Amino acid sequence: MSGTVSSPVYELRDNWGRVARDLRVSLTDRCNLRCSYCMPPEGLDWLPTEETLTTEEVQRLLAIAVNMLGIEKIRFTGGEPLLRKSLQEIVAFAHSLRTSVGTSPNLALTTNALGLDKQAQKLAEAGLNRVNISLDSIQPKTYAHISHRDRLKDVFQGIDAAQKAGLTPIKINAVALRGANENGLNALLRFSLQRGLQLRIIEQMPLGPRETWSRSNMVPEQEILEIFSEQFTLTTASYDPHSPARLWNVAEGEDHPAGQVGIIASVTRPFCTTCDRTRLTADGQMRTCLFGNAETDLRSLLRSGASDEEIARVWQEGMALKKPGHGIDDPSFVQPERYMSEIGG
Ligand code: SAM
Ligand code: SF4
Repeated sequence: MSGTVSSPVYELRDNWGRVARDLRVSLTDRCNLRCSYCMPPEGLDWLPTEETLTTEEVQRLLAIAVNMLGIEKIRFTGGEPLLRKSLQEIVAFAHSLRTSVGTSPNLALTTNALGLDKQAQKLAEAGLNRVNISLDSIQPKTYAHISHRDRLKDVFQGIDAAQKAGLTPIKINAVALRGANENGLNALLRFSLQRGLQLRIIEQMPLGPRETWSRSNMVPEQEILEIFSEQFTLTTASYDPHSPARLWNVAEGEDHPAGQVGIIASVTRPFCTTCDRTRLTADGQMRTCLFGNAETDLRSLLRSGASDEEIARVWQEGMALKKPGHGIDDPSFVQPERYMSEIGG
């Protein structure tokens, strides 16, 4: 299947009326950091190569998603997507696809930025539109404590390269962690404003080692706002209802220009009712949500000679069953078996 213009044959509509237009693709479960909230310090049992989708298989699913299922936005993630050797090739292929209105899909990357200094320009040339860079602290000790690696300099070099390559707007993702980085959130916001980056603070979700999360100990949106209000003047800003981040305008201060900050309050203010995402894991399982354990096995279909139409139909049937919400606050909630890095955040 090639990148030709066509109307979607099916759309990814669930039984609650939501239509998925945004595809999150995990390109690997491997990573060169060990962020405490995402994976254990010793790492995980990585997927064997033969269980990971090949470049051709990823490309085929991307083409089905855009040409037949109405996908308009693709975000590459992982694990760490920069570790996938064929990333530029996959981005270039995705850029060659055409949505039902005849444009290339919007292409984004979520990355820890290690090695982005060497890849940013080539990725931009391949058609990547923008990047989200994960950075939980600008203090070297705190960064190393959280990620278990002393690589803060690499992240700064990656941010510089992404800005030079025009991969903008650059969003900085930081997970708020009690006792680890909450005291540095104001410094992170000041740094982001000074550099023209949009900071988004994410509430920690139960998707990493089990002992690292509890509902009573996580830092909720309300507390994050109180921390920022100590040093910044915030007013509510308008935002896209499909975007998980609620935005605030930050007034100009003595040492920083005006800008915006976002908070992704996935736990205390779920955005499930407007969620327009569908997900592919690195081993070819389609998931409707980060939470829950339901998966639709597209890899087996790919490897058993199924046609594009069959794969699209099975994808559509799987998406129809998307649950109305993640239910973290429900007493019956059970943490998913896979960690965040094994799903693709
Ligand atoms: N390695 C890349 C990175 O870190 O940007 C991409 C994959 S990572 C799983 C994607 C995003 O998920 C990151 O911004 C990370 O901070 C976030 N994340 C990981 N575990 C999380 C958790 N338990 N709660 C909230 N966000 C989490
Ligand atoms: Fe790796 Fe990203 Fe998970 Fe950190 S959050 S361990 S960078 S996959």
